[in-house]
Amino acid sequence: MRIDIITVVPELLESPLSHSIVGRAIKKGLVEIHVHNLRKYGKGPRQQVDDYSYGGDAGMVIMLEPVYNMIQELKAEREYDEVIYMSPDGEILNQNISNELSLKENIIILCGHYKGIDHRIREHLITREISCGDYVLSGGELPAAILADSIIRLIPGAISDETSALSDCFQDNLLSAPVYTRPANFNGWEVPKVLLSGNPKLIAQWQEEQSLERTARLRPDLLKK
Ligand code: SAH
Repeated sequence: MRIDIITVVPELLESPLSHSIVGRAIKKGLVEIHVHNLRKYGKGPRQQVDDYSYGGDAGMVIMLEPVYNMIQELKAEREYDEVIYMSPDGEILNQNISNELSLKENIIILCGHYKGIDHRIREHLITREISCGDYVLSGGELPAAILADSIIRLIPGAISDETSALSDCFQDNLLSAPVYTRPANFNGWEVPKVLLSGNPKLIAQWQEEQSLERTARLRPDLLKK
């Protein structure tokens, strides 16, 4: 899989995409991530990529031309399954969307900044708009990193114990069961006895009960799906 991310602040994406599971997936060759600085196609000596908004609203708007040129350059090299714009008014990211995108070959993620992007980009170049929640951030970079992370951890081989991603929250619309590690007793705070029983069948049954109970209590909306 290949992910191309277009941004005006590439630095914001460096750390989240170079460590832990994502960093290892890149090293293992499971995914290629290319971060492109939109200023490459900026105008004039200052490589300008934003301009005042028509209508006089406060805040700068990312211009159409640099984004168009950047996307054309990428599309000339390969076909893309999706050109995604990170946007607070997009469909709210969930595990189903991440599962679906993890099966794609090539995707572009465009990060907005400032007041947003020229709406014609959204009308003509974008195939899908995704939000990371009902709040507004300064740029699409952190949302893009969240989206990329959630996709990449689903690629077979990205997580050493492959079943581990399957037992995560939201797969099957259920919250996951609680997890514990050593010591089994800390000042009287005990790990549930069943987990120490060594009986895989009992443990699986307990985990399923916990999953259902926690979902019903904390996220009843998921059970309705
Ligand atoms: N004026 C816009 C917000 C601009 S915020 C509005 O009211 O809708 C600047 C950029 O941050 C956006 O272009 C978008 O790419 C990104 N962004 C902000 N909040 C986001 C969210 N919740 N999910 C995804 N992207 C977001």
